[in-house]
Amino acid sequence: MANYNGPVCRLCRREGVKLFLKGTRCMTEKCAVERRGYPPGQHGQSRKRRATDYSAQLREKQKLRRMYGMQERQFRGVFERAERQTGVTGENLLSLLERRLDNVVYRLGFAFSRKQARQVVNHGHVLVNGKKTDVPSFTVSVGDVIEMKQRSRELLAVKSALEAVEGRGTVSWIEFDQAALRGTIRALPSKEEIGAPVNEQVVVELYSR
Ligand code: SF4
Repeated sequence: MANYNGPVCRLCRREGVKLFLKGTRCMTEKCAVERRGYPPGQHGQSRKRRATDYSAQLREKQKLRRMYGMQERQFRGVFERAERQTGVTGENLLSLLERRLDNVVYRLGFAFSRKQARQVVNHGHVLVNGKKTDVPSFTVSVGDVIEMKQRSRELLAVKSALEAVEGRGTVSWIEFDQAALRGTIRALPSKEEIGAPVNEQVVVELYSR
């Protein structure tokens, strides 16, 4: 399946929650979920879909997949990896998604959105433990150090993203050294800190059908 390049606010409206796909606009009253909090399309306001167990499970999975901007096959692969790990599969899934390098770059404020963070990684602007890493799906571990390449720090997009992140705040499982523009993974992210508006257990049920 090809990458989705359509209007991303439709995805949030479809799910009925903010998925934070558009950077700073998501924090303002211009957010489409706040202005038009009903599903997109001609019948968005009138047609009520019949809720089934399957539709509820599907919606939860789509929320999570769209939030991290992944394709189905890729997402399924992460789920299978979570299943193979010890512990609770749903929480493993959240942790693996949250520890993707593109997400960490977003959390550190080097990009406005996860989509932009993926581009920053793809273009080779990010170092992990001093080595160029251009794979957005790379999973960071405790102790890893993530930083921008020296030359890339001057990019206008990175500078303005860093200014904007001040309002968004960072997360406690990543220690951020603002002067050095460097983040160190201090712990595994907890479910509470990830704060995904998703019931991950329902996603596990969907894939266990
Ligand atoms: Fe979603 Fe952000 Fe658009 Fe709001 S502004 S609908 S949170 S992408």
